[in-house]
Order: sequence, then C-alpha cells, then structure tokens
Amino acid sequence: MQGTVCDGIERGNEALKKNIIAMNASIMIGLGSILAAPSVYAESISDLEKQKDSIQEQRSGVESNISDTEKKIDNLHDKQMTAEEQIEAIEAKIAESAKKIDAKNAEITQTKKEIEALKEEIKVLKDRIAKRNEVLKERALSFQETGGDVNYLEVLFGSSSFGDLVDRVGAVATIAEADRDILKQHELDKKDLEEKQNEVEAKLASLEVAKAELLQIQEQQKKQKQEKDALVEKLKHQTKKHEDEKMGLEEEKANLAAQEKAIKSAIDLEHQRLAELEAARKKAAAEAKERAAQQAAQAAQAAAKASESKQQSSSSGSSAKSNSSSSSSSSHSSSNVSQAPAVSSGTFTRPSAGYVSSTMGERWNKKHAGIDIAASGTVPVVAAADGVVSRSYLSSTYGNVVFVTHSISGQQWTTVYAHLNSRKVGEGAVVAKGQQIGIMGNTGHSFGQHLHFELHKGAWNYSKSNAVNPLNYIPN
Ligand SMILES: [Zn+2]
Repeated sequence: MQGTVCDGIERGNEALKKNIIAMNASIMIGLGSILAAPSVYAESISDLEKQKDSIQEQRSGVESNISDTEKKIDNLHDKQMTAEEQIEAIEAKIAESAKKIDAKNAEITQTKKEIEALKEEIKVLKDRIAKRNEVLKERALSFQETGGDVNYLEVLFGSSSFGDLVDRVGAVATIAEADRDILKQHELDKKDLEEKQNEVEAKLASLEVAKAELLQIQEQQKKQKQEKDALVEKLKHQTKKHEDEKMGLEEEKANLAAQEKAIKSAIDLEHQRLAELEAARKKAAAEAKERAAQQAAQAAQAAAKASESKQQSSSSGSSAKSNSSSSSSSSHSSSNVSQAPAVSSGTFTRPSAGYVSSTMGERWNKKHAGIDIAASGTVPVVAAADGVVSRSYLSSTYGNVVFVTHSISGQQWTTVYAHLNSRKVGEGAVVAKGQQIGIMGNTGHSFGQHLHFELHKGAWNYSKSNAVNPLNYIPN
C-alpha cells in the first residue's frame, strides 16, 4: 500500500514548545467565536477591536521576545569571537613552544654528537695511554731483569767506544724521559677531555630538563585550547538553540499577524452586515409604513364601497435575510474528477474522499498527530466545519498546508490539511463546512498522495498537545 505515509509533524525544540503553547493559547482565545461561522457574528465590533488590540499586544510581546533573543545571540557571538581569538593566541603559543622544543631537540642532538665525539677522542687517548704504559712497563721490566731494555741494550751494544756508549746511555735515558713526557701529556689531555665530557653531559642534562619543561608548557597550552574549543562548541550550541527559538518566534509572529488580518476582515464583514441590517430595517420600516397607509386607504375605500371583499396580504419579502455567507454557495466544485464526500450532519464533515491509510498514534517513535486519508486522482479537500483560514502556506514538512480556526458552541477548534497539491484559499478567508480549500497531494515530507488531517481541540501548537483523534469526530 503505497502513498499512505507522511510525516506531518513539525517539531520545535523543547524550550520553544512552552513559548508557543502559551502564545497560541492566548492568541486564539475568543477569536474563533467571531470568525468561525460566517452566518453568526455574535460579538460586537468593539469586542472584535478589543481582540485585535490584544493580538497586537501579543505580537509586540513576541517582537520584544525576538529582540531579546537576538540580543542573546549577539552576546553569544561576541563570546564566541573572544574565545576564538583566545584560541588563536593559544595556538600561536603552542606553535612557539613547538619551535622552542624543536630548537632544544636540535641542541640536544648536537650536544649528544659532541659527547660521542669526545668519548671517541677519550677512547683513542685511553688506547694510546694503555699502549704507551705497556711499552714503559716492558722497558722498566727489562731494565730490572737485564739492567736495560733489549732495545736499549741493542743500542748500547752497538756502541763502538766508551764515549759512544755514554752518549748512547744518555740517549736511552732521554728516550725514556720523552716516553714519560708523552704519557704525562696524554694523561693531561685525557683529563681535559673527560672534564669537557662532564661539562657537555651537564649541558645535555639541563637541555633535557628545559625540554621537559617546554613539553609540560605545551601540554598545558593544548589543554587550554581543548577547554576553549569546548567553550566554542558550547557557545555554538547555545547560539543554535536561540536561533531555533528565534525562528519559532518569527513563525509565531507571522501567525499572529495572520490572525490580526483575519480579525480585521471579520470587522469589515461585521460593519457590512450591520449596515445591511440597518438598510433592511429601514426598508422594512418604510414598507410597513407604506403598507399601513395603503391598508388604511383600502379600508377607507372598502368601508366606502362596502361591497367588494378584495383583500391584500403582502407579508412576504420582509425578512432581512443575511447574505454574509455568499462564499458557501460555491462550496462544491464540479470541475474535479473525484467528488468531495457529502457534507455530513455532525459537527465536522469528512475532509476528503478516500480510505484511512494511517490512524493517529505513535509511529516511527514520533507522535502521528492526525490521520492520513489516501485516494488517487484529483481529490478535492474541503473544510471540516465553518471557520476562518488562519494559515495557508508552503511548509517544509507539511507541504502545502491550510489551517482553519473554528468556533463551535463556544469551543475553539483548529483543523490542519497538509501535503495538498494546491491550496484554494488564502489566509483570512471565511470558509463554510464542505467548502473546497484545496486538492489532495504529495507535497512536503510525504511519500505518496494523501491528506494528512489534524484536529485540535483549541489551538495548534508545536507539541500538538491539543490534537484529538479525528476519527472520533468525522464520519468514517
Ligand atoms: Zn499523516
């Protein structure tokens, strides 16, 4: 069964709902009784004016709410901008820290290289010292054992004379002394290098400390940034909330303006009706006077003649028939393929032909606040009761939608006709029960041609708290 589902549920946020419920309730009070039935204008014009004033007052209330909300949004934008500036500053600091850390890392790498180089130098020296030590040790040993180094002895044995020998012994001593000097120098160099290594290692340690500090600072900065990011998120969320609220208020303002317009036209109609009544009354009075004069003349004539029994009776045409509901004469359009259902005698008549494809209740975790009536072809949609069109517009969810405000025996009702293919009535139009207001369609959030019909005992509001099951009121 296709063409049967829709989502006629327009949802506002929670904060909004309260506002709108309160507003709607107050806007609509008393309105319907004047506007609803075109044939019955029970209220006086001054009452209508009072209600128009009240709506104007409410509208200015909504306007001040809008400006309050705008102020809140501005304020939040300011805060957001400040926070974003702070984030920029923090980000610059983080970048700066990163640069410093990079520099420290470069220094650390360089220092480590230096340490490695020093270690290498020290190692070479240590090797040299060890080797020289070895040589010296061996020499010392051979002196002890043989009275002289083998090499020295070779040197000595190779002497050609005593003088030469003395010279050679001196030379040997000199060589040993030189060995010792070199060793001493090596030792000094080694000590120097070790001191350098210590120094550089101390430098490395301090670099590591500095780097750790920088990392810690950067960590704090990142944390600050996270906090600021969260704040911006929160501010954005709040802004969104207020923007939604503002949108709802704008919608409400439009609603109030529409109601105000409807009352204005009701006042005009009432003026016209009173003028017509007055004219009819004067005409009737004049006619009565004329008739009385005629009758008197006839009576005189009859008395005079006293023969004929001609009697004149002209009581017709004296009723002041109200023609304020001229629109009801065009209630059934014959140009449509499908017929509108016959107007029923109950409070409400069926708004269109077709079968009920979806009833009221929970659906897709959402409340289905009305019923769906599906039919194919060109299907007229009619007003369920006498009333005044309070809204007629294209909604993103409802599609082409008409709202009608009714007052029946002192009770305010609102009917909603959604997903229409086209609308036949404008806001402020006075409609009669069974009068065509549009053609069934598939506009807005709808999947297949059908009429989404809502009935509210009272005003329509975002939470649809006044919705009642239409099947309890219209013929099935
Ligand atoms: Zn529906």
